[in-house]
Amino acid sequence: MKRRNAIRQLGLGLSAGLLAPQLFTSCKKEKVIRGINYNGSIIIIGAGIAGLYAADILSSQGLNVTVLEASNRFGGRVRSFTSNDITNDNSSAAYIYNKAYPPLNDFPVELGADLVYGDDSALGKIISTLSIPMIDMGTATDNYFLGGQVNTASGWQGDADFQAVQNFVSALSGNTNNTSIQAAAGVSARAQALLNSEASNLYGSTYDLVSAAGVGGELQLRKHDSKKLTIKSNSLQDIMLSRFSNAVKKVVLNTPVVSVDYSGEKIIITDKSGKQHPADKVIVTVPLTVLQGGDIAFTPSLPSVNANAAVKFGMDPCFRMIIDFKNNFWGSNSGFLWGGSFGPQYMNGGFNRALFNSTLVVTAFGHPARQLSLQPGATAVNLILNELDSLYPDPSGRFPGLASKWIIRQSTIVNGSPVETDPVVTSYDWTKEPYIRGGISYPLVGATHQDRINLGTNVNNKIFFAGEATDVSGDAGTISGALNSADRATTELIKSIPV
Ligand SMILES: Cc1cc2nc3c(=O)[nH]c(=O)nc-3n(C[C@H](O)[C@H](O)[C@H](O)COP(=O)(O)OP(=O)(O)OC[C@H]3O[C@@H](n4cnc5c(N)ncnc54)[C@H](O)[C@@H]3O)c2cc1C
Repeated sequence: MKRRNAIRQLGLGLSAGLLAPQLFTSCKKEKVIRGINYNGSIIIIGAGIAGLYAADILSSQGLNVTVLEASNRFGGRVRSFTSNDITNDNSSAAYIYNKAYPPLNDFPVELGADLVYGDDSALGKIISTLSIPMIDMGTATDNYFLGGQVNTASGWQGDADFQAVQNFVSALSGNTNNTSIQAAAGVSARAQALLNSEASNLYGSTYDLVSAAGVGGELQLRKHDSKKLTIKSNSLQDIMLSRFSNAVKKVVLNTPVVSVDYSGEKIIITDKSGKQHPADKVIVTVPLTVLQGGDIAFTPSLPSVNANAAVKFGMDPCFRMIIDFKNNFWGSNSGFLWGGSFGPQYMNGGFNRALFNSTLVVTAFGHPARQLSLQPGATAVNLILNELDSLYPDPSGRFPGLASKWIIRQSTIVNGSPVETDPVVTSYDWTKEPYIRGGISYPLVGATHQDRINLGTNVNNKIFFAGEATDVSGDAGTISGALNSADRATTELIKSIPV
């Protein structure tokens, strides 16, 4: 119990670097107080937020930790666009229409996670502790697409289809309907895209696949408020790497783990180059797709409790597109635009934080993401532009719509005069990221809370599991879920060390 409390006290501010150097002091004090007598080696697989936080907690206790990361970077699904991406990222996941036209927004451009769910969530607390300003998207006015029209919530008042979706969304927490979101809501054909957008895309896939009871149960477990916040001027990647600056030093990059043999006393971890890494305890934090895909061969195989639970959840394609316009034609005070088909979530990225940019951030999970992923980049952006054009027609009739009219295009000189060509767009296709291969985990129909617990159940006090998919506090699929899971897994691991 004493150990657990020590960990909880250490939960925030252990190794914050540049942003809050004063927090180093508390780290040293706590470390002396804590003191665990254990010389065994601990290997963490994956340097996303769960892996970094687990390494942070364990190394602050004086334990011997190494993190093996498959890719060439830290942070996993937290990935902010940096100038390095312009020159270095030639992966098939990243698509910049023309590297001469990178997204140089006056606010942080996020290719992965961009919202803080809950002011007082695990992530919200880290950001508040570091006194980093956030913007509450709840103070913006959302727009909703329905039947080819755009309006605000008050504009749609009295529309029965709109109301049916809002009623379903507001009662989703605690929903016990063991069917898909689509079947549970049973809304009219006109309201289907809006339902998918508001009640399903947010949770990781399309409404025909996401379980109503699964999401309903998880939302009910959440202990934090339901605010959606953006970070005013710091990138999430900088915040996380600064917060976990000590853990980052423990990471070995470019080391994909291919097998974990825990049949003997020592656990033998083998990486892709054939190098063996002996360990006494292991924390696996890889995404669900990687576990399901069998990228890591476990000897003996994982127990049925974990294996059976792993198939109860999905992790589907995910596509992010960032489009800059010359004009905020959707309304500068707008927050989210809900109800798109190819773009189930459009966010007014510059709301209350951009002076110069008019940017829509598109996030698609599930079927639309798969369709966008299958297109060549130019076609993918046209699908989005067509959708926006049909919703925002150009009154002058000169353009297919306002999106086509106002999108920023590259320009080239033809016969001495500038001519506009392809749009300036950046996208990131998480499906093509080889060590992630999708968006976030979500409950399939039939999944229960017990399945989340089972997925993260440790094996013989040797193999522990963290990562957003193993969160049991209702925050799976989010950064807070990844943080909570690391807290849980390290607590289990420390408890397993004989006193
Ligand atoms: C587009 C998008 C938008 C999102 N939006 C939000 C949001 O607004 N707010 C929010 O809170 N959350 C959001 N999320 C979810 C959030 O990003 C994740 O829940 C969280 O970052 C997951 O952290 P993790 O440590 O569990 O996993 P990951 O970040 O996936 O880390 C796992 C790590 O394991 C590594 N790995 C994989 N295989 C191997 C191997 N064989 N050997 C070694 N290493 C391996 C990977 O490279 C990766 O670095 C979003 C996600 C996406 C994709």
